[in-house]
Amino acid sequence: MRSADRRGILAELDAQIHVCGLCRLSESRTNAVPGEGSASAKVMFVGEGPGEQEDLQGRPFVGAAGRLLDELLVGIGLQRTDVFITNVVKCRPPGNRDPFTDEIEACHDYLLAQIATITPKVICALGRFALGVLISDKLKISSVHGRAFRKSGMLYVPIYHPAAALHNENLRSELSGDFHTLAELLQSEPPSL
Ligand code: URA
Repeated sequence: MRSADRRGILAELDAQIHVCGLCRLSESRTNAVPGEGSASAKVMFVGEGPGEQEDLQGRPFVGAAGRLLDELLVGIGLQRTDVFITNVVKCRPPGNRDPFTDEIEACHDYLLAQIATITPKVICALGRFALGVLISDKLKISSVHGRAFRKSGMLYVPIYHPAAALHNENLRSELSGDFHTLAELLQSEPPSL
């Protein structure tokens, strides 16, 4: 698909998400946060859900966890504009509570449509919710972070959520190691799926 066509589809999805009322999160949001980045990104990052800053600004990962994500990207030679960043749920769960299963399900088609439009080489699941939704809810992030999984023709890498590493030096170094694994995967030949 041409880049302009991908951008058109993403813009249409953004418009739908901004007026979405499929679950209760639409009632408490300030702004929906569809996601942002390159429509032809080789890597897509999927977090949990918008936090306070994201809800206020309508952009993903713009708070403290986002600053760490930006640093980790720069560490492997990438900028935000090279990648696509989104979340499992596009509206902030009140008080940053965990998203409920019905909210994740209500939002799932938007995520699938974003993936189908961008067709990234690697999808990076940030934290346990994205791991559960995209790969398997039987796996623990502490056991599988940094490993590549193939599923339905896509390549996935679960890694710790940057928010978890903000106050934990050990997790931070695990996260930085996993970003280097991600960089190697991005440079490798396309896997035979
Ligand atoms: N945490 C997330 O999971 N997503 C964001 O957009 C910000 C913080």
